[in-house]
Amino acid sequence: MASQNPVFIPGPTNIPEVIRHACDIPTMDHRSADFPPIFDKAKSGVKAVLGSATGEVVLFPATGTGGWEAAITNTLSPGDKVLAARHGMFSQKWIDMCQRHGLDVHIIEAPWGEGVPVAAFAEALAADTTHGIKAVLVTHNETATGVTSDVAAVRAAMDAAGHPALLMVDGVSSIGSIPFKMEDWGVDLAVAGSQKGFMLPAGLAIVGISQKALAAMETNGLPRCFFDLRDMLSGVYPYTPPVGMIHGLSVATDMLLSEGMEAVYARHHRIAEGVRKAVAAWGFSPCAVTPALYSDTVTAIVTPEGIDAGRIVTHAADTYGVAFGAGLGAVAGKVFRIGHLGQMTDVMALAGIATAEMAMADLGLDVGLGRGVAAAQDYYRSTHAAPARAAA
Ligand SMILES: *Cc1c(COP(=O)(O)O)cnc(C)c1O
Repeated sequence: MASQNPVFIPGPTNIPEVIRHACDIPTMDHRSADFPPIFDKAKSGVKAVLGSATGEVVLFPATGTGGWEAAITNTLSPGDKVLAARHGMFSQKWIDMCQRHGLDVHIIEAPWGEGVPVAAFAEALAADTTHGIKAVLVTHNETATGVTSDVAAVRAAMDAAGHPALLMVDGVSSIGSIPFKMEDWGVDLAVAGSQKGFMLPAGLAIVGISQKALAAMETNGLPRCFFDLRDMLSGVYPYTPPVGMIHGLSVATDMLLSEGMEAVYARHHRIAEGVRKAVAAWGFSPCAVTPALYSDTVTAIVTPEGIDAGRIVTHAADTYGVAFGAGLGAVAGKVFRIGHLGQMTDVMALAGIATAEMAMADLGLDVGLGRGVAAAQDYYRSTHAAPARAAA
């Protein structure tokens, strides 16, 4: 892989130089007075990115998967019922984790390419008059299929049913790139990882916790130790913090907040629209079944019958040194993915589109060299507002 090329995988994402440097700091005694200001700044930056005024933020040395585990083990008890939809690799993996922890998962199956089936959730919640369901799980952005689900609609369904379950949201591939409103949506546990929208290396599980979730953690029954929120919230870090990563996070949140979250979201929407114009010009469709579900952080592209989409990914890597995302699970071989989250500009996206086009042309697909690039160029030219002030 040519190290000077950007990556187009939906995580880990490209790391801005300033963030790389920010992670590279000399050893610090984390019990000295030097650490708390860095830690506090990172946490308050994350709170602002999450849109959480009254919640807490915890940073575990882990990845998004650890964040899932922290969310469930700190608030639920063995045998508790949780409601979840299975519509992609990541929703499937969170369900599997719940089952391995002895939770009773009420699974609503939805086709891969669909979002969270809100009507089916509403029905299940309304039917649950005894409030046996303790948590509702939502994968905000299904990275495997490029589908963004409507978290606000799930919250509205919970409220309409007067249901007191906790709302747990996997925002690993959404937070920091597309709108996420923890407080407005009444999200009780928000899970993110450092290596996607936060533009850092992998290594931090970032968890936002509402006051309601904090109350649940006092009485729940699942065991946990490394991921115990009570230790994390006791005032001192319960083990050695990854200080460099946390310093990097404080710089990353500064970058996002100084660009302005609404501007960040607009940037990703515009980039994603250009990618989708290219996909349409190739004659292909996104895996997401309706435009309302299109993800602004990753586009999963369905390739024609008989074409192994994995070959496009392998060929682009081997020949041009550029990484795209392969299809996962049920869509392996059927889709390839262009990740456009984190540090990304229209100009970078054009390079990815051009490279995908070369790889597909090499493999004999009739995409027409330049066709997708031109479609994206047209769109970017017509929507160009000001010089894109990219993450430096
Ligand atoms: C990447 C990803 C995960 C897993 O995160 P890790 O940091 O790899 O543990 C979970 N959910 C979604 C939606 C993801 O995109």
